[in-house]
Amino acid sequence: MFDGKLEVRKSSDHSLVMRGIEEERFLKLHGTSAHAQHFSYNSHYEEGTLPSSLLWHAIFGHLNYDSLHLLKKNGVVGLLTIPRKLKQCDACILGKHSKQSFHDSHSRAHRKLELIYSNLCDPIHVPSPNGNKYMMTFIDAYTRMCWVYLLKNKFDSFQTFKNCHTWIENGAQSHIGSIRTDNGKEYTSNEFENYLHQHGIKHQTTVPYNPQQNDVAKRMNRTILNMVRSMMFFKNVKLIFWVDAVLCVVYIKNRCPSNAIRNKTPYEMWYGHIPSVKHLRVFGSTCYALIPKVHKNKLGARSHKCILLGYSNISKAYCLYDEVNKKFVVSRDVIFF
Ligand SMILES: [Zn+2]
Repeated sequence: MFDGKLEVRKSSDHSLVMRGIEEERFLKLHGTSAHAQHFSYNSHYEEGTLPSSLLWHAIFGHLNYDSLHLLKKNGVVGLLTIPRKLKQCDACILGKHSKQSFHDSHSRAHRKLELIYSNLCDPIHVPSPNGNKYMMTFIDAYTRMCWVYLLKNKFDSFQTFKNCHTWIENGAQSHIGSIRTDNGKEYTSNEFENYLHQHGIKHQTTVPYNPQQNDVAKRMNRTILNMVRSMMFFKNVKLIFWVDAVLCVVYIKNRCPSNAIRNKTPYEMWYGHIPSVKHLRVFGSTCYALIPKVHKNKLGARSHKCILLGYSNISKAYCLYDEVNKKFVVSRDVIFF
């Protein structure tokens, strides 16, 4: 290695296999090896070695630099200064259709739950460990707060909506005025329409062949999947964890600024105060979860090696996967490097 550059050559004929260039304190490998792409964005990206711009870009699900600055400007708690603009992120190129952020139309709602948008995405072809294939999103037009539910099949849509209805109305202490959906069968069944009628919820559906009228929900699904792909590529996380990535993305997305609500975060609009992001870490990072006292033995390890899969919505804790014992763990006592 010399002058920040490294060359890997075959011992047999000295032909060049891979070239490494030092970028922002880590070595980035470029080459023709079958494993080259893994090297380029995986093994070097432990949190402690990342430059802060790339670190926060990764923590926020590969959020664009301008939005990260907006968060800082708006006083989000725990966000460190981001010193410079990112040149390029491999995981973004691999995971997103486009690096451009879209401009969302401003919300026309005047109160929480006056209007919610909903969309059911096409099936995901990698089964999750418990068989989920679909994601169904709900977005409040006024606050842009988003909720996501995972479904095993389309027939669960009606029950899912009922669960969501109870959950968000209790949270907001307010009633849903209207729901806007496309004309998918999951939203137009008699039982669904009867339920809406009984609860005084108006149903706005898109004109056939004009699904763009439900663009807010469709764009949200696209954005979620773009972020999911980037986050999984970035840390080379196994595809079976896509459900955890989806839940993590929505948690993060609710803490990202949206131009539809004048660059505030949905969290702030919904809860009335600016979120703290001190606890956020890069999805897929290696970490160590403390073993509870009752499971410890005198000479055994004090913690389990895990990977971060997200954040609990019901307590201040991390959702982890213990790769040694092959089990999901929720823990508050976690050490990251
Ligand atoms: Zn990125």
